[in-house]
Parts: sequence; C-alpha cells; structure tokens
Amino acid sequence: MKKIMTAGPTMVRENVLAARALPFTNPDIDMDFFDMYMETCDMLETLAGATSGQALILGGEGMLGLEAAAASLTEPGDRVLIIENGIFGRGFKDFVELYGGNTVVFKGNYKRPIDVEVLREFLNKDNNFKYASFVHVDTPTGVLNDVQAIGTLLNEYGIMSVVDSVAGLFGESLSFDSSKIDILIGGSQKALSAPPGLSMVWVSERAWKSMEKRKQPIASYYANLTLMKNYFVDKVFPYTMPISDINGLRVAIENVLADGGILARHREVAMACRGALTRAGIELYLESGWANTVTAFVVPEKVSCQLLLEDMVKDYGIMLSGSLEEFEGKLVRIGHMGENAYDEVMAETLRALDGALRKQGFEPLAGMADYFVAFMK
Ligand SMILES: *Cc1c(COP(=O)(O)O)cnc(C)c1O
Repeated sequence: MKKIMTAGPTMVRENVLAARALPFTNPDIDMDFFDMYMETCDMLETLAGATSGQALILGGEGMLGLEAAAASLTEPGDRVLIIENGIFGRGFKDFVELYGGNTVVFKGNYKRPIDVEVLREFLNKDNNFKYASFVHVDTPTGVLNDVQAIGTLLNEYGIMSVVDSVAGLFGESLSFDSSKIDILIGGSQKALSAPPGLSMVWVSERAWKSMEKRKQPIASYYANLTLMKNYFVDKVFPYTMPISDINGLRVAIENVLADGGILARHREVAMACRGALTRAGIELYLESGWANTVTAFVVPEKVSCQLLLEDMVKDYGIMLSGSLEEFEGKLVRIGHMGENAYDEVMAETLRALDGALRKQGFEPLAGMADYFVAFMK
C-alpha cells in the first residue's frame, strides 16, 4: 500500500474503513438513519464551535460544498467580494459568476496571509457586498488566513461570509460562532481523514434567512442547501444519502472528538517539518502564515519536480503532492494533516525525501528525519 502523504486525500484509520464496510439500511425510509445523520451533524456543530449554525453533510466532494454556498446565496446581480491570496480563493469567483453574481476581487500577496488592515481600508471605501468569500488554508501554497479576524471584520460591515476550510478544519482551530461567519465548508478527505466523497457545510441563521428572502429561485437542485434544511422534520433528503460514506465519516468524527491533543499535534508536526526542510537548505514557498496542515516547499534548482514525485512513489511507496496552475512543477507539498500528522510516518517521509533529492544530486545540508525526530521528542 502506498502512503498518501498528500495535501488530501489523507490516510484513513482502520476503524473508518471498517465502518464503511458494514451492512446498511435504506437511508430514505429508515428513521434510524435520520437520527444518526442528525447526531453526526450535532457532533460537527460541536467540533466547529457552531451552536448558532446548522451543520449538514452533503453527498459530494468539497467542491459541492463550495458550489452549494455560491448557488444558495447568490442571486443574479448580487455584488460579491472575493478575498483571495491563493488558487482556491480566486477560484470561488467562477462559482459566483456561474450563478449570476457580480464579483469584485480583493487580492492579497500569495506569500502571506490576507492583511486584515489593508482589507479594512478597502472596506472603508467599498462595502456594499451581499457576502464575501475567503479560504482558511489555501492548499496549493499552504497559506493560513485568520478566519476570526476576517470574519468579524466583514460582520462589522454587515457582509456575510463564506469560508472554505476544507484544508483547515480539525487541523487548525476555528470557531464558527465567534468568527461570525455564515457558511463554512469542510471536506471528508483532508484533516478529518475519511475517504473523499463528502462535504460538510455549516450555515448561520442569517444565511438561511437570506436564502428565504431570495426573489429568484436557486438555480440548482443538487447544490440547493434549502432542500436539506428541514430534513429531520420532513423526513426527506433531496437525494439518497451515501450511507456507507456517512458511516465512515461518523467514526472519523468520533476519532477527532476523542483526540484532545489534535491541534497541538498538528502544530508540532508542522513546525518540525518546516524546521527540517529549512535546515536542509530547502526553501519554503511562504514568507509567513504557514498552515499546520500542509507545507509547500520550492523544488530546488536542477531538481525535476516530476521525477522527485515519481521517485518518492517508486523507491519509497510515498505519495507527495505537486501543486496546481502557476505552481505546478515548482512546489511540492507534504500533507501533514489528520492521520498523516504522526511522528513515524512523517520521519519516514522526510527520510525518503532525503534519498529522492540525493538521487537527483541535491545534497541536503542537514538530516531532515533526524531533526524531525529530535524536535518531536
Ligand atoms: C481539497 C480542497 C477543496 C476541495 O477539493 P476537492 O477536489 O473536492 O477535493 C476545496 N478547497 C480547498 C482549500 C481544498 O484544499
């Protein structure tokens, strides 16, 4: 079996795999399923600090959660602010425009978190937006944005917010209530360490009200969040729920709930990983704002990114991620979130990376795995 030390999907614990293999009931008509689904959503509300928001599990990848937020909130002609300092951040613009929104982009420096003071100055001049979107951890570079600061700032201006935390949630702290955000999106296959296939959304009262007040109907069926809202009272979902996926997700959520040290573990693994790379003479892409879930490093000169990724798999059985769009071929990413954020597998990954770099003539200045192990002691 290959080890998937990628920026998602991540590795999955045995008990999650086992839960997905259990016999299952008919989720359309078995009332026990509705209870189980609701309990699982309650757990998600607890995990995200969302006493005021409603969590839902959607049968589709993280992208469905993003599209559902855009489809459900955007009416043709609405002004929407796209706050972006990375590829996922800027990509949300396409969803908004697909549903007829007029976008305005606030672009940050891709090597740093969004500068909240600069954003404040921008909003002082122009704040007539129905909602704004931003990303917690923009995975292709691993930049971490301050959800609390940006969310509360937007709220001061009466602007709702849509937050993509697919690559942040459960590896980075986040509080839905205190950040005053309106739609939060997570995915099953990142730090939650369930297989790909599900997204999770948390929706505020304010966002539900905004959807109710729409003049034009939501231009989607599958991405229409209002069709999910009253599932428990109405005892109906808009489509048959992927019950085996949800059985697995439930156990992955229980794993997270039982792991009181999960955020500290992510922080330590991430710090040790960054320290190991920089001491070896490898440049991190970011100047600041390194997320605890993923680290992007610059492929050293004279090293082929493609060959490096191939050798990691061929010689060591370890998959790493390259990057996307303008970063493809330039950055490599180690996904150290969820089940990947453990000492042994990280040390093994860094040992393998050392070997794969040496094979292409790059001599690390220091032993990465040794540094990592010493740091974690
Ligand atoms: C992984 C990810 C998504 C979802 O992408 P999928 O293709 O559905 O896995 C969305 N946003 C961010 C920031 C991500 O890292």
